[in-house]
Amino acid sequence: MSYHENVRKFEKINQKMNQGKKKKDSDDSAAKKNKPGKSIEQGKKIKEDKVAFASEVKKSTRAMADFEKKSTKFKADADKKKTSGKYPGNNKAFAEDKGKTKKNLCFAKKDESIYKGHEETSAASKSRCPYFKKCGACQMIDTPYDKQLRQKHAHVQELLEPYTRVASFIGMEEPEHYRCKVHAVFTHDKKGNPLSGIYREGTHDVVPIDSCLLEDEKADAIIASIRGMLKSFKIKTYDEDNGFGLLRHVLIRIGKNTGEIMVVLVTVSPIFPSKNNFVKALLKEHPEITTIVMNINDKQTSMILGDKEKTMYGPGFIYDTCCGMKFKISPKSFYQVNPIQQEVLYNTAIDMAQLSGNEIALDCYSGVGTIGIIASPHVKEVISVELNKDAVKDAKINAKINDVNNITFYENDATRFMQQMADSGDHVDLVFMDPPRAGSTPEFITSMINLAPAKVVYISCSPDSLARDLELITKGGYEVKKAIPVDMFPFTRSIETVVLLSKR
Ligand code: SAH
Repeated sequence: MSYHENVRKFEKINQKMNQGKKKKDSDDSAAKKNKPGKSIEQGKKIKEDKVAFASEVKKSTRAMADFEKKSTKFKADADKKKTSGKYPGNNKAFAEDKGKTKKNLCFAKKDESIYKGHEETSAASKSRCPYFKKCGACQMIDTPYDKQLRQKHAHVQELLEPYTRVASFIGMEEPEHYRCKVHAVFTHDKKGNPLSGIYREGTHDVVPIDSCLLEDEKADAIIASIRGMLKSFKIKTYDEDNGFGLLRHVLIRIGKNTGEIMVVLVTVSPIFPSKNNFVKALLKEHPEITTIVMNINDKQTSMILGDKEKTMYGPGFIYDTCCGMKFKISPKSFYQVNPIQQEVLYNTAIDMAQLSGNEIALDCYSGVGTIGIIASPHVKEVISVELNKDAVKDAKINAKINDVNNITFYENDATRFMQQMADSGDHVDLVFMDPPRAGSTPEFITSMINLAPAKVVYISCSPDSLARDLELITKGGYEVKKAIPVDMFPFTRSIETVVLLSKR
């Protein structure tokens, strides 16, 4: 069956699923029956393998329930220490960046023993970060960079010990100020003077912050300018207690490679006094700003952004480039916060796959299409599957901007999608999987094994869920060939790892 027939078929399946009909239609079963090269013997063998694997999945599902129970306890412990706010390594901000909720977070017990740097730092009389005690998001802020990498490496090596020897970390040459998405919450002191910063641990009190060692310095300077302008423009900051005031948050997104800068002013009301003069004054101080957007959030919520938006200046979005491709970043788009290491991460994933140019690659959990689009020149076709409707919309725009014609995007659950492909006898050579921090699921892994790609490239932002998933993937007939950690979040405990698996 040609790819385009496949495309039509999936569209049909999607439609049916949207209508709430049964997922298996007669086309599928016909395709399954007609699948070439499946002798009765092979069929029997596959059936046996499936039964054996299903029992592993059952065990693993139980293990996963255990794991989740432990994670919940662990999360509770971690919550006691957790801060909320804007910093990398900060659980809340990190969850937002990965487009998921706090409940997906999990922590390894081993973290506690491994990250001695944090303990040493806490005990030290003076941290190099003046906000360390109140913020606490950068657990390794006072640990020398090479030591951070060694400690993180030891942690991931311990977890992946049964599968492979983990390569050295790919770190950053200049590990500070890497964060190109910066958020500040706005409030005021008792005298009404505007303040901006982060929420104090477990509260909605704001810890005023002028600059952060991890954030882009230009972003911090813009936030300071906005704070300085508020009084003269008679703009009041929002008061959570009585609901008065206008400005709640400022979000800055920087296109590191294009130099484009987006300022998002989050307000409770769509009426911004002296709007044009405010924009003019801000641009005078920061002519490098390319767009200013007002986002209206009038809800009592811990979410930063509301649904409505009004562009005050420029196009309302920015572009950035990654691995030679251009990507559109809107206020709500998911995009990695460390663009330098993002490029390293994706190049590592694509190099690892050793592509010949003839492959059909499936990009699961594809977000705004970054990995698939970057991989597209190196393969014959890419099929991308993502659950979030807005992300799929952005992904289609991104493919268009880059003139990529060999990629198709599907809004669907990756597990269901792969199972449908497997049931229809479709074939892919390679699966890229980049799941949220909670990792994948036994069901996802089962359908991937049924689909039987020759290679799997797993991009993980949590070594704990990675280790759990690898157990099942390797039991399903794959072996780990390589594991390379990439430091996406220096000075924090977060670990990103790229793993190559191939079918035994
Ligand atoms: N690969 C992308 C995004 C990774 S974040 C990048 O590098 O930019 C993980 C993504 O998985 C999110 O966009 C989330 O919406 C998506 N996702 C979560 N569960 C999913 C599921 N069951 N099926 C498909 N996509 C899912």
